[in-house]
Amino acid sequence: MKPFTVRLRFHGDLNIFLRSGSRDRIIDRQIAEKTSIKDVIESCGVPHPEVDLILVDEQVVGFDQTLASDAEVDVFPVVNADTNRTEKRLQTIGIYSFVTDGHLGGLTRNMRLIGFDVAYDRGADDRQLLAVMVRQNRALLTRDRRLLMHAIVQHGYYPRSQNPDEQTIEVIRRFDLTELIAPFTRCLRCNAVLEEADKAEIMDKLEPLTKIYYDQFRRCPDCKQIYWSGSHFPKLQKRIEEILSRAQDKA
Ligand SMILES: [Zn+2]
Repeated sequence: MKPFTVRLRFHGDLNIFLRSGSRDRIIDRQIAEKTSIKDVIESCGVPHPEVDLILVDEQVVGFDQTLASDAEVDVFPVVNADTNRTEKRLQTIGIYSFVTDGHLGGLTRNMRLIGFDVAYDRGADDRQLLAVMVRQNRALLTRDRRLLMHAIVQHGYYPRSQNPDEQTIEVIRRFDLTELIAPFTRCLRCNAVLEEADKAEIMDKLEPLTKIYYDQFRRCPDCKQIYWSGSHFPKLQKRIEEILSRAQDKA
C-alpha cells in the first residue's frame, strides 16, 4: 500500500512521555501498512492507560481504530474528575483497588495508610503483577512504561514523581479517591482490613507502657500486627492531612 503520514499532537502532561525534542510539537510518523491508532500512539512512548480521548481528523475514535491514510491525530490525557467527561472517554475513574510494582513500596504504604486496597509483593515479576491485576481487577501502578503498555493492561497509571507523598497525591487525583479515604483502617504490612481488638485479649503482646497508656487497639486478622494511636500518631495524622489537602487543591 501507499505510505502515508500520521501527524500526532499530544496534549497536557502526555508530553512527559515524549523524547525531549518532541515535546509540545507535532510528531510526524511515516507508516507503510495498516496500523491501529493505539500502536502509533505507543510507538511515540505514551502508554495506552494514560490516554483518555483520541481524535482522528476531529472525530472521536477508540484504540482499535485502524489508520490507512494520512491523518491528523489529537491525543488527550485523563483530566481531573471535575471536568466534563463524555461517554467516549477511554479510561475509567471508578477503580478503587490497585497493584503496585516492587519499586513503589512507599506509595503502597501511604495508600494503605489512608485505607486503600493495594496488592504489593516486592519480589513479584511482571507476569505475576499482571496476573494479580487481571484476576482481582486492579489498576496497575508502575513507573515501568513497557509494562504499562502491555496489551492486557486496562487500567493503570504512571506516577510522575519519584516521591511517595507526591505519588499518593497523583493517584488520589487520577482515580478521584478523596471521598473514599479512610485512614488507619488497613494493615500497612499486608493490606488486610483491621479489626477492633479487645485489650484483654492482646495484653500479653503489649509493651508495659503501652498497656498503661492506651486502651483502643486494632489488629490485623491476617498477620496479627497490632495498631494503636501511639506517639507516632499525631505525626502520621498531620502527614495524611497534608496529602489530602494537596490532593483536593485543583490549582
Ligand atoms: Zn497485616
